[in-house]
Amino acid sequence: MDNTALLYCCLGCFIAGTVFFAVAYFSFSYYRVRSMEVGFTLLISTLAFLFVLGDALSSFYTILHPAADRAMLFLLLREYTPLASFIVIPVFLGRFLQLEGRIKTLNRLFLGAGILGATAVIVASLLDMDFFLKRDAGSDAVYRGALHLTMEFVLAVYLIYSMIIILLSDIRGRNSFLAWGIFSGVGVAAFVTVYMLYHAIYFGRSSAFIPGGFPGMPLFVSALVLTLSFIVSNHYITRNQKVLDLQSDISSVLYFDAEVDLPNMMSFRKDLQLELEKNTAGGPGFSLIFFDVDDFQNLNESYGETVGDEVLRMLARRMTDNFSSAGDIYRIGGDEFVFLLRNDASRESAGNLTSMIISSIRNPFVVSGGSFALTVSAAILMVPEHGGDLETVMGNAYRAVRSAKKKKNCYVHYDSGLLEGAARKIGAVNLLRGCISKDEFVLFYQPVVDAGGGLLYAEALLRCTNPDPRIGGPGDFIPLIEKAGMMKDLDNLVVRKAFYDMEMKIGKKFGLSINLSAGQFSDPSYGEFLSLFAKQHGIEPDRVVLEITESTLVDNIDLARENMVRLKENGFLIAIDDFGKGFSSLTYLVELPIDILKIDMAFVQAVPGDERKEKVAKYIMDLGRALGLKVLAEGFELPEQVEFFRNYGCALFQGYYFSRPLPLADLLEKYPS
Ligand code: C2E
Ligand code: MG
Ligand code: MG
Repeated sequence: MDNTALLYCCLGCFIAGTVFFAVAYFSFSYYRVRSMEVGFTLLISTLAFLFVLGDALSSFYTILHPAADRAMLFLLLREYTPLASFIVIPVFLGRFLQLEGRIKTLNRLFLGAGILGATAVIVASLLDMDFFLKRDAGSDAVYRGALHLTMEFVLAVYLIYSMIIILLSDIRGRNSFLAWGIFSGVGVAAFVTVYMLYHAIYFGRSSAFIPGGFPGMPLFVSALVLTLSFIVSNHYITRNQKVLDLQSDISSVLYFDAEVDLPNMMSFRKDLQLELEKNTAGGPGFSLIFFDVDDFQNLNESYGETVGDEVLRMLARRMTDNFSSAGDIYRIGGDEFVFLLRNDASRESAGNLTSMIISSIRNPFVVSGGSFALTVSAAILMVPEHGGDLETVMGNAYRAVRSAKKKKNCYVHYDSGLLEGAARKIGAVNLLRGCISKDEFVLFYQPVVDAGGGLLYAEALLRCTNPDPRIGGPGDFIPLIEKAGMMKDLDNLVVRKAFYDMEMKIGKKFGLSINLSAGQFSDPSYGEFLSLFAKQHGIEPDRVVLEITESTLVDNIDLARENMVRLKENGFLIAIDDFGKGFSSLTYLVELPIDILKIDMAFVQAVPGDERKEKVAKYIMDLGRALGLKVLAEGFELPEQVEFFRNYGCALFQGYYFSRPLPLADLLEKYPS
């Protein structure tokens, strides 16, 4: 047997194996990430696999185990697969590059022509195979027919067309590495195709397919797929790395108060939450000492903020030097500090430590020649006795510190007799139960606008029409309803009203966003229910944004991922609400199918002035860009805030500066078209 032919055959099998590996790798990546980029790569590599498989098996049945009919069958598999490019190329360009205007129309033409052309080639070749591939009866060699040559010519046109479109689109600015990688891949494919065409036309019959000498085309196909796998892996590795880097940058500004060199409120809430979780499993409990400097405002006003800041720095240092062995110290506000005594659940030892802290602070602080004597008011809480969850602990702590402040220069143990608030809450819950049964709720809508102030969509926000002051806004009554287990009724009411408004009053004018509660989000069948309900109202799901708060997400990330994928599969868009409020880990963002990152209001409202939060806001926008998400910031009240975010490339805006939440009729009047 001819050694070249044998080499061809072995190489073909090897290449098919390599490309099969790439297909398996992309399938796994797609299963994990479900991103469009990986889906597309999976599609290309599957086509490439069919191509090289056809090549390997047709050479096997020609060279090692001659069976002309089988060889022809696999040869056809090989030669039909490039037909898929006529559909894949325009679909890819349309979805991945977000084409607009005339280019979009042109691309649709290419897609239509591609579908027709591919079908025509298959039908014509089935009617008369000689037209596509000719078998030489004497030698069993196979040659290209006129139809095949035309197909190659059109393929070259499609490849060159896609190179031009990639060059013209703005994808390079956003995602250059991936785009250039694909661009080069397409460029090489175009070159090989034109080269083969040239060869076939000018050297005519010498372009017999099998036995075919050196396997140029399959080698090229496998090289293309391997390059693609390199590009895609590299893209994801850099993306992950970027997220990790940003996360460490963000944590350093977010969790630490550089001014006094102590961890801050965010850090305290995170650690407290962890301790609370440990104790739900019946841990030994722990204690907290909250303290607040008395009349610190007077010192600031009389001696200036520079002196005030220096005094606080010295106070923080004194406490770290003297008491850090007893527990962790945090600065949770301007002149508020807290000790977390992890392994100490004894009232007495917490009381002794507090006395020592109070007397230590009474020793004057000397700043720029002046001597300043301070006193503090403190409160001690034993957990879980004085609160089993974060908000209760914080609320009780503030209440207790306030009661110590009435006397000043002293400490109190939290006294559950102070719980007048609880009775008020029970009254409010009863009231709300009545409101639900009487349907005393309406939806207001707050616009989300683009950088020029144009309406993009509107967020549905719940309002209770009962004027009783105990009810308050949704920020007050929703947590109460949630705790009382009545949230499902309210959720259904919101979706019903929002979809009704969309069908009957909004029509196709704009889309809506709806806030999902934890209950809705954790229900695995909710996506299907919502999709069915939307269909009944004639609403396309991609006009509905579902807002999920970051805290709901991180509570159970695996379940969240599954449910999010389900909602996404039903066509809804997904936004992460109040992003940045409770950072835990950012790496989850890479894996979740999110469309919009909605920056928490605190970051917008910290502009201008709070450099730390401005920095975090910038990081979040970078993060959004790195992940290819749209970034929406909410809570704009001042023009400087809009300016800052607009300059930094934020695309979506929401806030009183543009519009307060309005009844639908007013919103429709404000944005008539
Ligand atoms: P959210 O989803 O983060 O909604 C944004 C909140 O910020 C709204 O408060 C809105 O009125 C307010 N806001 C918007 N722009 C500005 C601004 O420029 N300055 C200030 N100070 N505030 C601004 P709202 O309506 O009181 O809602 C509070 C929270 O209640 C919402 O936060 C959301 O988490 C929850 N909520 C509201 N409606 C629903 C609902 O239908 N279902 C569920 N599950 N939660 C809801
Ligand atoms: Mg929201
Ligand atoms: Mg929000």
